[in-house]
Amino acid sequence: MSRIALFGGSFNPIHNGHLHLAQTVHDQCGLDRMLLMPSGTAPHKSSAEYAPAPDRLAMCRLAAEPYPWLEVSDYELNKPGKSYTVETLRFLHSCYPEDALFLLLGSDMLLSFDSWYCWQEILQLSGLLCVSRGTEPEETLRQKAAELAPYGQVTVLHADPLPVSSSQIRHKIELCRKFSCYLPENVVQYIMLHGLYGSCSSQSMV
Ligand code: ATP
Repeated sequence: MSRIALFGGSFNPIHNGHLHLAQTVHDQCGLDRMLLMPSGTAPHKSSAEYAPAPDRLAMCRLAAEPYPWLEVSDYELNKPGKSYTVETLRFLHSCYPEDALFLLLGSDMLLSFDSWYCWQEILQLSGLLCVSRGTEPEETLRQKAAELAPYGQVTVLHADPLPVSSSQIRHKIELCRKFSCYLPENVVQYIMLHGLYGSCSSQSMV
């Protein structure tokens, strides 16, 4: 039996906080594989705000290069319509019926988890693995984990938070501020090369 984790998100763009979450969970939970799965683009999002799906996918592939256990999946990007996490987990369960599934979440997502579509089924299909983003008190996270515990397995892992977000990075790029310390080098180069997020081509930004 393998231990397989799903790590979904908009990854717009993928950044060091995402990789910190992935690495922490991988190291502390003895996972065999992790699927990095960018979500589809909501139709109402503007292109300046939302990089095209092929670019978000390409940046995920670049970021995953150093990690042999991290696989990038285009499953949700290729699926028509909105993808719900529960549907993706049902699909993974049908592909890997003998394996244990886990779902990675940052702490912001843990706090709103019980408003997700079919959250109780998500907890039947997978264990939740959460790492703090440093934005909520540990006690609040522990309390939430305890509330969810009757429905499934919820683990809050301990690691120094790396407080960075994609929106923060997009904002910096828009304002031509330095942003390279928040992302892997090859992702920075990709953003510059493709002029994503309204990036001016000036090297002073990196
Ligand atoms: P945005 O700022 O655009 O909302 P984001 O930085 O929150 O984006 P997402 O792609 O929405 O990134 O996040 C995917 C998953 O990664 C979520 O579960 C989120 O909580 C988690 N995550 C994002 N940043 C961090 C971080 N710095 N530390 C731990 N988890 C994180």
